[in-house]
Amino acid sequence: MPAALEVRDLSFRYDGGRATLSGVSFTVQPGECVGLLGPNGAGKSTLLLHLNGILPERLPARSEPAVLVDGLPLAPANLPAVRQRVGLMFQQSDDQLFCPTVWEDVAFGPRQLGLRGDALGQRVRACLERVNLDGFEHRRPHQLSQGEKRRVCLAGVLACEPGVLVLDEPTSDLDPRGRREFKLLLRGIPATRIIATHDLELVVELCPRSLLLDGGELVADGPTVELLSDEALMLAHGLEKPHILQHRHPHAA
Ligand code: ATP
Repeated sequence: MPAALEVRDLSFRYDGGRATLSGVSFTVQPGECVGLLGPNGAGKSTLLLHLNGILPERLPARSEPAVLVDGLPLAPANLPAVRQRVGLMFQQSDDQLFCPTVWEDVAFGPRQLGLRGDALGQRVRACLERVNLDGFEHRRPHQLSQGEKRRVCLAGVLACEPGVLVLDEPTSDLDPRGRREFKLLLRGIPATRIIATHDLELVVELCPRSLLLDGGELVADGPTVELLSDEALMLAHGLEKPHILQHRHPHAA
């Protein structure tokens, strides 16, 4: 079976700027849940935007592909197929919600994929139920709480039934209860997941493996508990060993 996601020697710079990603390579197997860690400005969001072809703005047509999804190279001809497989939840909910009602927002993706009528209605209902938002169909997305907005975004991504779920700081604006609820939702999703976050407890609880990015380079890739327990590594990259691991030995189960 091909890897769910393969990134090969990915480098990128924004127009006129310095390198934001330098030679990043890693592979994610189907069903894995991987944390993406790193200090502010490390390049996490930039990396995630490459996973479904939002970046680079113009995909090179013929060179060696830097990203493969289910073995499919991310090239112009495959862009629709890749975007169907990789669901991306943006860092800011407001960047993702643009319809007048919750129903329309969640229906947008599957409608683009050709779903109509009862099948579309059922898909939207099922996804809203899954994120505990049944009854919110006619609400205005921009009048919802941050936690509700996050869950509408997640429902919209799930409605396209992606095999790979890419989440950019999904809990950054949630209160502790919202974070707990969101964590439970993420835990129940069987898709391959890659989660960029500063919420180290979430990573410890959900992601057996993590990637550590700094200055656009992948500086570590390994078991989350081992990485986060390495105080020198954490300190060197602007992070710290989370409380949840303060008394845990890195090799404890
Ligand atoms: P954070 O944890 O703060 O969200 P990050 O690890 O997600 O940070 P990115 O948002 O990918 O980091 O930013 C990496 C670098 O690229 C930063 O130096 C940032 O200023 C720069 N950058 C991000 N977006 C753009 C853009 N659209 N144009 C130019 N530079 C950008």
